[in-house]
This record gives sequence, C-alpha cells and structure tokens, in this order.
Amino acid sequence: MHQCKEMNKAIFINNSDSDNEDKMVKYYKRFNEYGFPILDGENSDVISTIGIKFCPWCGKKLPESQRDAYFNILETLDIYNIHDKNIPDELKRDDWWDNKEGK
Ligand SMILES: [Zn+2]
Repeated sequence: MHQCKEMNKAIFINNSDSDNEDKMVKYYKRFNEYGFPILDGENSDVISTIGIKFCPWCGKKLPESQRDAYFNILETLDIYNIHDKNIPDELKRDDWWDNKEGK
C-alpha cells in the first residue's frame, strides 16, 4: 500500500469508515486500487469510485490496479460476476495479488 502520511490520513480501506468526512480516498484492496469515492447521498454508501493513478498529495505513481488482471483470471474460469459463488477461495482473498508476479 502507498506509504505517505498525507494520503494515509485520508484513506479508508474497502468500505470501512467510508462515512468519515475526513476520508477522501478509497483503497480497494481486492484490486490494489485507489480512487475517489462516489457516495450515494442518502445512505453515504460508496456506489462507485473514480480511479486515481498518482497520489494527490505527493505525486508518486500508485501501484497498477489489479482490476483487469482479476477479471481476466475470472474469465478463464468462465466467471463474469464478482459475486459469483464459484470464485475460487484464493481469489476471494483481498490479498490474492500479493504473491502474483509483476504486481
Ligand atoms: Zn503520497
């Protein structure tokens, strides 16, 4: 995960703490992805995110998102939905990409 004091103050992981107004950046662990959350006004649920490739505070390049890689793997298993119950256990883990080459 991107280690920078300023961003760490503003980041929340997955959806926990998403209703905290001081938290502006979502880190979606499953995809090793950073983004600005789009909240549903009524429930303050994160309904979507706008991906960011560079840290808005220090300007460093953030890690490559694993989103495409993830869905490419699922496709080889004939799975097209992230909530599919046939997703193998190792791919249900948020750190599935941690052992992957070229992360
Ligand atoms: Zn930074």
